[in-house]
Amino acid sequence: MYIVNEETVKQLIDDQSAFDAVESVFGAMAAGDAYNFPVIREAIGYADALYGFKSGFDRQTKSLGLKSGGYWPGNAKKGLTNHQSTVILFDADTGRPYALVAGNYLTAVRTAAASAVSINYLARRDARVIGMIGAGHQSTYQLKAALRQRAFEKVLGWNLNTDHLTRLKKVAIENNLPFESVDRQTLCERADIIITITSCHEPLLMREWISPGTHIACMGTDTSGKQEIDPNIMAGATVFADEIAQSVEIGEAQHAVAAGLIKATDIITIGSVINGDHPGREHDDQITVFDGTGVGLQDLAAGAKAVELAINAGSARQITL
Ligand code: NAD
Repeated sequence: MYIVNEETVKQLIDDQSAFDAVESVFGAMAAGDAYNFPVIREAIGYADALYGFKSGFDRQTKSLGLKSGGYWPGNAKKGLTNHQSTVILFDADTGRPYALVAGNYLTAVRTAAASAVSINYLARRDARVIGMIGAGHQSTYQLKAALRQRAFEKVLGWNLNTDHLTRLKKVAIENNLPFESVDRQTLCERADIIITITSCHEPLLMREWISPGTHIACMGTDTSGKQEIDPNIMAGATVFADEIAQSVEIGEAQHAVAAGLIKATDIITIGSVINGDHPGREHDDQITVFDGTGVGLQDLAAGAKAVELAINAGSARQITL
């Protein structure tokens, strides 16, 4: 089997290759060629850790496997990342292990690719201002990938701890764009596209602040109880998701569905837009929301791409189990 380490993944997977892998697998999911298996996530009662698996199979690319890992809150003190992920791929023809791929950087770029895909397909073509809610670990990846999708002229940012906004400002400056730290209401009123990427448990964006035509990519809510936006935003928007079942269970839509404001059947898969089966945005005043909950197939798609590139570059180690 092949082994691809964190450094190699960082060198080989860029925003475009992650975008291509994620766009393709979202399309395969909507076509019924790829499906995610039920997610396992458990508090293991040791080291305060949350541990789990996300797995699936894509018949189009024959990507079969899982991402395993979770959250170890004590890691930062040891100089390690709190979130830990490893992707294991299997040969779909034989079930034999095919590759072991470091998954930490991969998780960040595949998550950023999901919101970038949503912007590409759903945001207004003339969007010029992007607003970032959250400035944690994922946020810089999100902003970098998003900036490739439109001819932006300005980046706005809000974070609980304003010191952390320097991360987003650095990305903006690297892309020759001005950056401004603003309050949440101002951000909503001025941004054409908003990405939320926090671990918040209450609404940060209110319905009355959102301008017609805005695209919102909700990327932080990936667990029951987390929340980033007022559920009324979804009631007045066209809602898209990576996977509908996960969106209503652990995604941002859990709140709007629980409040009876929308139904699961109102949500459209982003893959159906990618495949040309749904028009996506239909007019400039429409508010679109993408609920990006994060599915195992994204990890498998990005992991398989990393293995392919590493084999071609001669940087995949090979072992026999
Ligand atoms: P992080 O710990 O580095 O940053 C957390 C962010 O949330 C910070 O900006 C922090 O200020 C903000 N925050 C926390 N509590 C808040 C509150 N009460 N009010 C306002 N802001 C608050 O985390 P990260 O790695 O950047 O991840 C951010 C979120 O994205 C997490 O919820 C994580 O689980 C989620 N995530 C989702 C996916 C996906 O595929 N959708 C993938 C990876 C991570």
